Amino acid sequence: MKHTAVTGNLTQLTRFGMVNAFLVREDDGFTLVDTMVTGSAKPLMDAASAAGAPIVRLLVTHAHDDHVGSLVALAKALPEAEVIASKRDAKLMRGDQTGEPGEPDGKLLGSYKPLDVVIDRELDEGDRVGSLEVIGAEGHSPGQVAFRDPRDGALIAGDAFSSLGGLATTAGPYWKFPLPGFVTWDRPTALKSAIKLRDLEPSVLVVGHGKPTKNPVPAMTAAIKRRS
Ligand SMILES: [Zn+2]
Repeated sequence: MKHTAVTGNLTQLTRFGMVNAFLVREDDGFTLVDTMVTGSAKPLMDAASAAGAPIVRLLVTHAHDDHVGSLVALAKALPEAEVIASKRDAKLMRGDQTGEPGEPDGKLLGSYKPLDVVIDRELDEGDRVGSLEVIGAEGHSPGQVAFRDPRDGALIAGDAFSSLGGLATTAGPYWKFPLPGFVTWDRPTALKSAIKLRDLEPSVLVVGHGKPTKNPVPAMTAAIKRRS
């Protein structure tokens, strides 16, 4: 597991050179954002121990398997930790793939598996999780959420962007790293979310796949213009 200190409050954890999760430091311990693929629970708990605090919240950006893959194992190993997801993607995590009224009828692409876990808290835009502000970033999945830390301006964007091979939106497949764009649920919605996240003017952008991007606004703008 590779540890990258992003800000004083945020550490990026990386496995296999391409799958990220994040430790967000709070007064009562860490919020773990995303859980990587199956088999990552122990390495993620070891990473928190090495960083000196327990994981007290298990928070996910969206319901794709490479983000929730170790959620069930972590929730079992950490029964005190609160399990938190967006209201819309929590429905997918329960195995309900029906759409919502007024939604684009995008295809659910990529791996969404029913999870044997109790979701303790379901988020709407504007909610807070510890210090983090919840920002709707739907499009890649129907209910993806991003998290902004007002303490330092960092933005955790899930798969709204990727940075492997350069910063790209997932409003379409980027030729250098096409996978996240290929499994996007609704591309126009994903593009709108990318613009919304850029307009927050984050100080640093972290994503599900790839390195952190400092002062990311110009690169986000270029990616939005390229639309993938
Ligand atoms: Zn995804």
